[in-house]
Amino acid sequence: MYSTLNDYDINYLEQLAKQSSATINRANVYSEILKHATLDALTGFYNRRHLDERIKQETAKAQRQKTPLCAIMTDIDFFKSVNDIYGHAVGDLVLKTVSKTIRSQLREYDIAGRYGGEEFAILLPFTRTEEAVMVAERLRHSVENTIIDLSKVNPDAPQKSINVTISIGIYEFKNSDISDDLLKKADKALYQAKDTGRNRVIINKDGK
Ligand code: GH3
Ligand code: MG
Ligand code: MG
Repeated sequence: MYSTLNDYDINYLEQLAKQSSATINRANVYSEILKHATLDALTGFYNRRHLDERIKQETAKAQRQKTPLCAIMTDIDFFKSVNDIYGHAVGDLVLKTVSKTIRSQLREYDIAGRYGGEEFAILLPFTRTEEAVMVAERLRHSVENTIIDLSKVNPDAPQKSINVTISIGIYEFKNSDISDDLLKKADKALYQAKDTGRNRVIINKDGK
């Protein structure tokens, strides 16, 4: 009952409320800082530093628990010419759209990171090559079929909308591998996909 509280009680409760709100504010600020420290601002994917951290964790877990783990490396085809023809803002829009399309095709526990400019790495825990190929083909198709509307970003662009394609490399982690092999070996397959025509999925089977 408010009427039973004396001045001392009221003062105490006011102080308590002030301190609690300061603590909640600090927690909110901290969670914002944490988000910026782990996420890439443009795509919302994990940034390179956090991705490296997750690779160490997931490869250690796969080896310890003997569970399958696949990596997918993707790279947008002819992305430089998107920037050159339509401008950097359209390039950014393409990056945002492609990352959103990719995320929509993944399970919640799949890990998506921005590895470099227009390269994304995806870790698929509890996944064997055969299933990773199906995921990769799904990604490839959905990106290819996504129409990117340019009118808001660049109304003077020579075309109203465009679509892009991605090349994909896949590698399934082996027990004899070291952590760094995961993306390195997926990247080899990606380069083969580039060399053999782009907009395709290649598997690095022998892990060389
Ligand atoms: P390929 O099919 O062989 O992959 O050709 P590519 O043109 O995609 O490859 P390249 O590596 O030559 O081009 C990558 C381009 O990505 C060059 C760089 O300007 C652009 N890029 C990197 N990061 C960003 C970004 O954050 N925003 C925009 N708009 N462009 C970016
Ligand atoms: Mg590239
Ligand atoms: Mg590229």
